[in-house]
Amino acid sequence: MTPSGSRGCKSGQRKLLPLFPVPHYLILAVGCGVNMPTLAISLPCDGCGIPASAEHIAERVRRLELSTRFRPIHIGILFVALAPPVRPEDDFYAPAQSKEFFDPFLNALEIPAAAEGIAPGAGANAADTARLMEFQHRGHYLAYVSECPLPENYEPASTTIARLGPTLIRRIRFNYRPKYVAPLGKEMLPLVEMLRGGEPGNIQTLDQGLVLPTPGTGSREWAALFQRAVASVAPR
Ligand SMILES: [Zn+2]
Repeated sequence: MTPSGSRGCKSGQRKLLPLFPVPHYLILAVGCGVNMPTLAISLPCDGCGIPASAEHIAERVRRLELSTRFRPIHIGILFVALAPPVRPEDDFYAPAQSKEFFDPFLNALEIPAAAEGIAPGAGANAADTARLMEFQHRGHYLAYVSECPLPENYEPASTTIARLGPTLIRRIRFNYRPKYVAPLGKEMLPLVEMLRGGEPGNIQTLDQGLVLPTPGTGSREWAALFQRAVASVAPR
């Protein structure tokens, strides 16, 4: 956008907004950019597509900072879940206070809870951070279809994947560039279909396109299934 174009947008909104309270997406549709500091209405977050407050954007940036600390230079396996947990302190890379996902996931990858090199009395957080470092060291990374938590019962998983899957696939191709993608959970089947339907040079999914079980859920055999799939591409 040219500087003159930007001024045009701003002046246009100042005139129009009191008269025509049009939805933000229509304002965007006529070419006003997101980098206008005077814009007082919420814009769609580029992580989840939902109109976002300043607090929402701040939380998104915080999550990105947390995960970037543990991002491998070369990603071997990119695990993909639907969306991060609602509470920021439960974010996987925080590291998560809630262990519902964190522990079974890392246990299945045989990244031990009592990591070596942790000073006695250093605390649970130091031990969890050491586990995340080992996760990173092995070339693993965890990403989401929606980079922000979704409101409860906001939409079916298939809708989220249809809405945000193409953006995720672009991130996979041009940003993450993993050797393998491993969607986590049955709800991710539509994503596998999307990945399969891609262009030539398409993205390899773990376990021949099967989704992996969500760690800690489902049948008792989930851990064996999970370990077998990971070991098939990342033997230790
Ligand atoms: Zn968001």
